[in-house]
Amino acid sequence: MQNEIYETLEITPTELTDRSDCFALNPMGVGTPFVENLTSYINRLARAHNIRSSDFLRYKVSEFLKSAYLISELNNGGLNNKCRYINSDSSVAKEFVGAIEYLVGKDNLLYLTLLPFSSSYYISTKGIIKQQREWCPLCYREQEKKYETTFDLLLWTIVGVKVCLLHKTKLMSNCGNCGTKFRVIMKDSTTNLCHNCGMKLDQYVDRNPCTEWEVYYAEKMGELISSMIGLSRNKEIFLENLKKVVSHYKYYTAAAKATSISETTLRSWIIQKQIPNIIYLLRFCFATNINPINLLNNELDMSKFNPRQQLPEFNEKLVMKRGENEKYKELLTTIIKEDAFPPPSLSEVERRLNNRGLRRNFPDLCKKIVDRHKLYLKNKKNENDRLKYNEIYKIGKELYELGIYPSWQSIAEKSEKFSLNSFKSSTAYKAREDLFNDFNISKSINQYVPVPNLINLKHEK
Ligand SMILES: [Zn+2]
Ligand SMILES: [Zn+2]
Repeated sequence: MQNEIYETLEITPTELTDRSDCFALNPMGVGTPFVENLTSYINRLARAHNIRSSDFLRYKVSEFLKSAYLISELNNGGLNNKCRYINSDSSVAKEFVGAIEYLVGKDNLLYLTLLPFSSSYYISTKGIIKQQREWCPLCYREQEKKYETTFDLLLWTIVGVKVCLLHKTKLMSNCGNCGTKFRVIMKDSTTNLCHNCGMKLDQYVDRNPCTEWEVYYAEKMGELISSMIGLSRNKEIFLENLKKVVSHYKYYTAAAKATSISETTLRSWIIQKQIPNIIYLLRFCFATNINPINLLNNELDMSKFNPRQQLPEFNEKLVMKRGENEKYKELLTTIIKEDAFPPPSLSEVERRLNNRGLRRNFPDLCKKIVDRHKLYLKNKKNENDRLKYNEIYKIGKELYELGIYPSWQSIAEKSEKFSLNSFKSSTAYKAREDLFNDFNISKSINQYVPVPNLINLKHEK
């Protein structure tokens, strides 16, 4: 029965074109949730040419790439820096798609990546590519039977996808025999073989049960992937639908509680400050029981609204690019080293670097910035308090010596630095209190007696 699903995938066998000396393999499963990913396609191309993937990239692909950093990564044989984003929606994916499409004479390879989402304008797929390969051993077995080859699905590369859509079993993330984990793309081109112990990866199946959310997530992510080809660019319906759902809950706080999405995030979606990330969008859809495709494309009928009452703990985490991570780490370190005065607050730094996720990704560095800014504010407050105290005391004393009652009003009138408003502080009260005590001045203006000898002095004049 499960075999039949693979039977339905439209795949034609290897064919040759006259444009290139490269086999023009057809990518598997385009337009379905079972579409192959680009690194898997690269592995199959390499196998078809009987060379390692790293050599295929270096000797066949690199001459069609433009970016020097990609070419140098391929020449150095390291594939774990930029190359791990080949399946994503990034510029790296774009370059590889362009180069390999040219090489094999195909024009649909972008569907083996998340690139189509990047032009949809209303769903973000940033940070959702796993850092390591995961696979379904049962799929490998069926693929081998049917196509005499194995390939990895784009769906398996997405953060949070833990279940095979077809077999409803857990995806594997390490060799069941020796425990080795695999990078997104390796020098070796094998998919169903552990490069460490040589054991076939389809030998081990994780039979642990999957949760409802895990199955839902894989299914809906699959549906969104297969809908990439027809993805519309009209975000109006989607925005209207979002507004409808949120207003159904009346308040952002209520909507946030019901969907496990923060109030700030919901608000930023609706005022279009932030494009919803696909992971959060699926949480939202799960909680509200709305089909994601409907939420994106069709006017919602809220009379049928039937949200889920109980939500699982959502724990999918977005992955920041390592390159970017290093860049931000460096920038933060520089800011700390600079030791500028006044030291900037964390929100100022976030604004400057245009990154709101610093605290989450660099808690220690951010703590330094926060602590330094706090200390600065504390010192500044102390200094200000000291000035204020002295000013009030001094002016108050001068007024008193002139025979004038040192009321707040009269002190403020004489002060160049402080306003009446700024006297509503404990420091200000303390200053006047001390002054009144030191000179034994009555608190009440009615009982105020000007200092006698000063008045005498005045009379003598
Ligand atoms: Zn499977
Ligand atoms: Zn192994």
